Amino acid sequence: MDWDKLLNEATQYLQEYIRINTVNPPGNEIEGARFLKKILDEESIPCQIYEPSPGRGSILATLKGDGSKRPLLLLSHIDVVPVEAEGWEVPPFEGLVKDGYIYGRGALDCKSLGIIEMMALLVLKREKITLKRDIIFLATADEETGGRWGVQWAMENIPSLKEAEYALNEGGHIILNENGTADRYAISNGQKVIFQLRLRAKGTPGHGSMPHPDNPNVKLIRGLDTLTKWETPYYILPSVKEYFYKMAPKQPPYERSFFEDIEKGLSDPTFSTWLTSNPVYNAMLRNTISLTIIQGGTKANVIPSESTATLDCRLIPGTKKEEFLREIRRRLGDEIEVEVIAESESLPPSPLNTALYQAIEKSALNNDPGCPIVPFLLPGATDSRFLREKGIITYDFCPFRLTEKELLRVHANNERIGLENLKLGTKVLVEIIKGVST
Ligand SMILES: [Zn+2]
Repeated sequence: MDWDKLLNEATQYLQEYIRINTVNPPGNEIEGARFLKKILDEESIPCQIYEPSPGRGSILATLKGDGSKRPLLLLSHIDVVPVEAEGWEVPPFEGLVKDGYIYGRGALDCKSLGIIEMMALLVLKREKITLKRDIIFLATADEETGGRWGVQWAMENIPSLKEAEYALNEGGHIILNENGTADRYAISNGQKVIFQLRLRAKGTPGHGSMPHPDNPNVKLIRGLDTLTKWETPYYILPSVKEYFYKMAPKQPPYERSFFEDIEKGLSDPTFSTWLTSNPVYNAMLRNTISLTIIQGGTKANVIPSESTATLDCRLIPGTKKEEFLREIRRRLGDEIEVEVIAESESLPPSPLNTALYQAIEKSALNNDPGCPIVPFLLPGATDSRFLREKGIITYDFCPFRLTEKELLRVHANNERIGLENLKLGTKVLVEIIKGVST
């Protein structure tokens, strides 16, 4: 395989893909799906476009195996988030190459993943690799606004998808230290549970010049003041425990033993305060509550009759929602009504003792001997929840080598991907697919 030639090809594809504006809303992912179909058609890889709502296109391609194992699904999404073009050094939809990087919206999230997944199919096909399982490529619409017209629709309407044993999706990477060496393989095998609440305080309207005790704004802030001071208890999943254990050797001597046994570590007040001041670690260890919206009153001299607030709660999988809700109500007091406005299913993380995980471990051992492979509980939500719901073992892992700083460009300005990553990413992905499918 001529990997440099392949990189040229992948670069060109990603540039063209970025040039197709798929900002969601409205998405218009159908154009992206048609673009991918053209390439797959030329390679004679069977594929089909689905368009459940005008413009909202997804594409599914299948590289056939002998069927002795169940399929592996390679997932990505076609849509991207909007841009604030003024903040960019280069135009965000031109796919320009500068200093060894391709710039543009979607360069990291996640058109680049779509391209290397497609390139992996092309490589396997060109090399005439005999596969024991079908490799399904699925690039979908609507990830950035919830998946209704993308993965959710696909899982409900394309029966063959439910056959998949494994899936790889966006979310985890090979995280580099600032000096460019691999710090860890972060593989997300689960995610927090969405549980969003609307709070409502009611009161008696009146003139602002004559304050009275039945002011809903005052009731609301009083309840919120108590609630937001709540330090929710730790709830540590086995895979989270493993995460800290695997990261222990990298810690300074004092912290090391705390990481090795994170439950014991968190019983040390100084350590637990220090650790949970990191928002990512904090989110991995407990249920979290963010106060995201407050609304009450419209006029300076009017006491309103009602005020509302929204809480974005994210729960550790396995949390009993009713108990959590009861505790929220207790802390808010009985003057505030609480209503659940959005929730996702509480799904246990995917197991780690699988052939796919082993294939990733083997590839890590080859390319970065000694580098820890850590399971990661994602604080946010990806489309993977729709797959885990159907029992598909899903890892959020895209084998790009990125520093944490570079990852901050996701959804931000000057999003970019190094050309080297397109080449290495494809290579490693092919390695992993072969590891689990031949
Ligand atoms: Zn994404």
